[in-house]
Amino acid sequence: MGDARPQRLAAPLLVLLLLAVLSACGAAQTHRGPVTRPGPEAEVAPEDDGRAPDPDDPAYDVALSEPVEDSYYPDMGDPGVDALHYDLALAWAPRKRTLTGVATIVLRATRDAGFVQLDLGPALDVGTVTVDGVEVEAERDGKDLRVLAPVLADERHVVEIRYSGTPEPVDAPTTRGDFSTSGFTITATGAAWTMQEPYGAHTWYPVNDQPSDKALYDFTLTVPSPWVGVANGDLLDRTEEKGRTTTSWHLAEPAASYLTTVAFGDYTMTSNTSKSGVEIDYWVPTSSADLTEGLEAAAGGLDWLEDKLGPYPFDTLGFLLVDSESGMETQTMITLGTTDYTLSVPVLVHEMAHQWYGDQVTPNDWRDVWMNEGMAMYLQGMWEAEQKGVSIDDQMELFASYEDEYRDESGPPAAYDPAEFGEGNIYYGPALMWHELRQKVGDDEFFRLVREWPAARDNRSTGRDDYLAWLEEETGEELTAFFDAWLLGDTTPDRG
Ligand SMILES: [Zn+2]
Repeated sequence: MGDARPQRLAAPLLVLLLLAVLSACGAAQTHRGPVTRPGPEAEVAPEDDGRAPDPDDPAYDVALSEPVEDSYYPDMGDPGVDALHYDLALAWAPRKRTLTGVATIVLRATRDAGFVQLDLGPALDVGTVTVDGVEVEAERDGKDLRVLAPVLADERHVVEIRYSGTPEPVDAPTTRGDFSTSGFTITATGAAWTMQEPYGAHTWYPVNDQPSDKALYDFTLTVPSPWVGVANGDLLDRTEEKGRTTTSWHLAEPAASYLTTVAFGDYTMTSNTSKSGVEIDYWVPTSSADLTEGLEAAAGGLDWLEDKLGPYPFDTLGFLLVDSESGMETQTMITLGTTDYTLSVPVLVHEMAHQWYGDQVTPNDWRDVWMNEGMAMYLQGMWEAEQKGVSIDDQMELFASYEDEYRDESGPPAAYDPAEFGEGNIYYGPALMWHELRQKVGDDEFFRLVREWPAARDNRSTGRDDYLAWLEEETGEELTAFFDAWLLGDTTPDRG
């Protein structure tokens, strides 16, 4: 996600930002025009196609993972489950604030067990549950949902869960200023959206809610017209019938649960295209259509990133604006709040950089979220330096001016306080670390490493041991002390 920078800024930047805010007076407000109310919703029900998937279809193999228990948030997810595909048929009734869902999950058991454990918010009632077409019982304990069916290691099954209710977000383990809850969020008008790092997908669907288990996704979203449902991936189909709009979305490459997104609301979509030929779709609230113009700078930002990182790694890209104050690199469909900072071009560049660092290759444990934020922040810093016409060294001086304090408050970047997720310590120190490595190995070698790492672990979740060993192998240098000092040290290491 983007950093929470507006809270604490170096003075010159704060002045610039204040000037920008003052000159754009009121631009951060989300709902300025009349809100188009959706039509009648009595008939809103999920469009369940009733097809039974073949769990042994080799098309699911790309989503095979090695799930591990998260060392930071071990209550989330279960390493006994390797989800391969989620087919989510969801209907949203904005007036009743009811979500009705059919989740059809292809999964692999990773061990012999008498049940399959998933996460699902307790605010949602569970109806019929089947495993391979046979109805089974399920037990609930808080957000733990145990589907009672015996499974054997490495066998694949199809679990179907029907559920409904008014989703409730969960408390986020953070002290950031731009969000305090995560998961499915309902606005005053009955629109809905979600952001969910480090967890919270389970507030709207049954899921193995941890980053070491990637899966493929299809979404079928139904909402009263003229509202529309938006999710990750490629919009395959959009129909309007009996006052309802149904959209179908297909995510062609596996994603971790924190990288999924869904929103229901009155949206208008426009597009532009990067020089490299990537079409970018902008889903903007119809009442805030003027925000689209600033977003179109994403195309130039993507060209800049592709020059540094290689071709964009997925087959679709979009931005989805929601009533939040934060921004999130949800895979192929970036979810952005409508503040001046979250809609600024540096943040667009930051969230697009995550499509490589975070989405294509994903940390398998939340202790290593610095693997995402350090590189996204470094690339954001490079972009900002170019725009301002200052050197990257000067930009790093700015980052260094607040790194000490963040590290002191929230802990070392790779050994942070679990109650302070996503604070500045995982952004600025690791960005400075990458700049120091660049000085050590030279520009050509550094940018070769930056380009090659995401491709070397394409579609996988992995941890720091694998990453740092790969860097040592590639550079032929002994870097353990260097990385330990930057990632685990209590104070900022001396810079070269
Ligand atoms: Zn980020």
